[in-house]
Amino acid sequence: MKSTELGIRVRSFREECGVFGINAASRAAELAFLGLYSLQHRGQESAGIVSSDGQQVYGYKGLGLVSDVLSADVLKTLPGHLAIGHNRYSTTGSTTLDNAQPLLVAYRGGRLAVAHNGNLINAVELREEMERAGSIFQTTMDSEIIVHLIARSRAPSLEGRITEALSQVKGAFALVLMDERKLVGVCDPSGFRPLCLGRLGSSYCFASETCAFDIIGAEYLRPVEPGEMVVVEEGEMRELKALEPGARAHCIFEFIYFSRPDSVVFGESVDRVRRNLGKALATEAPADADMVISVPDSSNSAALGFAEESGLPYELGLIRNHYVGRTFIDPAQRVRDQAVRVKFNPVREILSGKKVVVVDDSIVRGTTSRKLIRLIRKAGASAVHFRVSSPPIEFPCFYGIDTPSRAELIASSHSTKEIAEFLGVDTLAYLSMEGLRRCVRNPDDFCYACFDGSYSIPVQADADKLALERRAGSPPSTSQNARSLSVDSAHES
Ligand code: SF4
Repeated sequence: MKSTELGIRVRSFREECGVFGINAASRAAELAFLGLYSLQHRGQESAGIVSSDGQQVYGYKGLGLVSDVLSADVLKTLPGHLAIGHNRYSTTGSTTLDNAQPLLVAYRGGRLAVAHNGNLINAVELREEMERAGSIFQTTMDSEIIVHLIARSRAPSLEGRITEALSQVKGAFALVLMDERKLVGVCDPSGFRPLCLGRLGSSYCFASETCAFDIIGAEYLRPVEPGEMVVVEEGEMRELKALEPGARAHCIFEFIYFSRPDSVVFGESVDRVRRNLGKALATEAPADADMVISVPDSSNSAALGFAEESGLPYELGLIRNHYVGRTFIDPAQRVRDQAVRVKFNPVREILSGKKVVVVDDSIVRGTTSRKLIRLIRKAGASAVHFRVSSPPIEFPCFYGIDTPSRAELIASSHSTKEIAEFLGVDTLAYLSMEGLRRCVRNPDDFCYACFDGSYSIPVQADADKLALERRAGSPPSTSQNARSLSVDSAHES
């Protein structure tokens, strides 16, 4: 997405999507709305809900934030006891209404709605094959491939059709699906993206994160396991082993950055893991400083952990403007360079004359961090020690997170010393891989590919190039380009 389309973006690793599903006694769409509202951080490009009263299926989706798209009047048009919903940030496909989800289709099995979080890595070949066989696609999303595969299946039940379809796709998917009567949640065999199962009275619900359960008063039961399908029909829940589970590869970035700290994902508290990251960082890379500040909000928990472990006070040295986003349209030329300043403001009274530890969750291109450091120095900090609560990001993601190409990732071509010079900090330290692994309960269950390049599902040899191409408007970069980019970039990271 270009910044001119939807507002200022100052992060480069983008949240993917949020999904929600519920069977309820009534007003399922209203509960789905609340669930999506609390998952807003996972995608701000579009939102949608599909509902069913057991006879008919109703749907509405639009471009924009949940509260803009799904007004009270819209929710009145979505009756019934079943509903699924989706917030989108595109990892494939462009930002158009056609590409908003849930996808809703009519086929010989009835009506089918699908909400997908993830990314299929064999989407191009599957789509070409299906188009050769006569399939016509309405969107540019890989999620539509799943819909076509389900519709083509001859299996007698919805569960059978979904299983047959998903056994042909490779990659990351956490899906909620529904027809007129059934609600289904299913995860890929590696469990890349989170999907949680909850209960509200006698109803069941699915959500990317448990913060969506808290808002409706639902109880968190457990994660949907890799390869598992959970079917809810007429108030009864069935758990099926739909796909042969592979080695687990939960996305570690859910803990580092994507998920809300008040959520549980993959069965662990995000806040607890994030604080552990900060504590581990303080142990590995202490600093001679007066205080610890975070780059809000995603680094708050890690900064608190750093402060606790180091004994330094935690201060609110940077204030984030939470209203930056779609309302701040057209930053293009006028404020492009001020994007960081629009989003973050340093508190001069706190920072002036102080040696400051700044904790951030990651460095992607480095351009945003550099601007932030300048702001902190301008506010009078006498020393800046930058601490990153994850290892250097050297590789792109192919499993549902929108990342820059490898050449644009500053750590893929620069040493820590070079990056420190570029940022203009007194010292820079990243959390080590060993330190990161120690912060989660089952370290072998996670994907770390953006740090170590070990892709658990092999990606094509030219996948890096494809990643470049899919970022519309980003001309292919060479390593040389990456070096010049680091000196002065026109991109916001
Ligand atoms: S490559 Fe990184 S962002 Fe992508 S799934 Fe793995 S850990 Fe998550």
